[in-house]
Amino acid sequence: MAPSPVPLLSLSLPELTAWVQTTGQPAYRGKQIHQWLYQKGARSLNTMTDLPKAWREKNSDYPIGRSVIDHCAVAPDHTRKYLLRLADGLIIETVGIPSSKRLTVCVSSQVGCAMDCNFCATGKGGFIRNLQSYEIVDQVLTVQEEFQERVSNVVFMGMGEPLLNLPEVVKAVECLNQVVGIGQRALTISTVGLPGKIRQLADRHLQVTFAVSLHAPNQTLRQSLIPSARHYPLEQLLADCRAYVETTGRRVTFEYVLLAGVNDQPVHAEQLAQKLRGFQTHVNLIPYNPISEVDYQRPTEAQINQFAQVLSDHRIAVSVRYSRGVQADAACGQLRASRQEELTATV
Ligand code: SAH
Repeated sequence: MAPSPVPLLSLSLPELTAWVQTTGQPAYRGKQIHQWLYQKGARSLNTMTDLPKAWREKNSDYPIGRSVIDHCAVAPDHTRKYLLRLADGLIIETVGIPSSKRLTVCVSSQVGCAMDCNFCATGKGGFIRNLQSYEIVDQVLTVQEEFQERVSNVVFMGMGEPLLNLPEVVKAVECLNQVVGIGQRALTISTVGLPGKIRQLADRHLQVTFAVSLHAPNQTLRQSLIPSARHYPLEQLLADCRAYVETTGRRVTFEYVLLAGVNDQPVHAEQLAQKLRGFQTHVNLIPYNPISEVDYQRPTEAQINQFAQVLSDHRIAVSVRYSRGVQADAACGQLRASRQEELTATV
């Protein structure tokens, strides 16, 4: 059996140029196709009207590598949650988050996730596979086309653990930066942290924004929320973050999901402030988005503000980040979980 053709979106400009020549076309056609793919959102060679008609017709079924929108849920705050269907039928979640100055896309880096953090819907369905870099770029192109507006920021905070798919995530970062034209600092890689992986990322010397999901100020509490933390002592994680700052010259942002009565008490904020002493950092507090599988609660606004105040009193920069689009369909990963089940049931 002949190997299946490589989707065109997975090729760099030199690779596209080489490919088009193997089909008997001159080299400059590579650039034309590249423009169609990235600037005009072409989803088939047939629609690339400045290419020869007979050649287009002959290659009209050649795979491009774009996903199909399976479902879109629009929240009252205009956030749009998309379920995108990949070539192999799997579903991923991508979110477009508009604001007055920005259009942010929250992309998935894997189908499912192996980390199984207690409070996260994605982990409940387990890990299925890594995404290829073009499947990450496709999510950004899709949101850009849907909103008819340039994407300004990308956060790797959808499904998956980006550092477990590092080569493809780095390739996607390079493409989003160099081809799609998004500044590296406007790209955020978020990780729960895995032994050795933060160093690997630091060694790439990217200028992206780097965020670590901390969620607890001590090892015992952290590993009760994040099973993988059992193999990664908090002190080691923080030492790796310090080394990251040294290697890249970039700050580290810490994310902290606030779960009522679990990790949101003033004593936790105090402990956190002690742990982060001397760190050039910013803490993002994320009030928990309820998911159906577990019964954590979101803290009250007063509790959230009190936690933030303790950090501020210690001169730690802190923001409260309410997840946008919660009304579109519960928290992260839930929309996809229900749809994938439905699809599997109908096969
Ligand atoms: N695996 C990566 C990126 C994906 S999750 C990471 O852990 O950083 C992106 C962020 O959303 C993480 O900080 C994660 O802890 C948070 N998150 C997951 N489920 C949530 C929920 N139900 N409510 C609020 N934040 C959640």
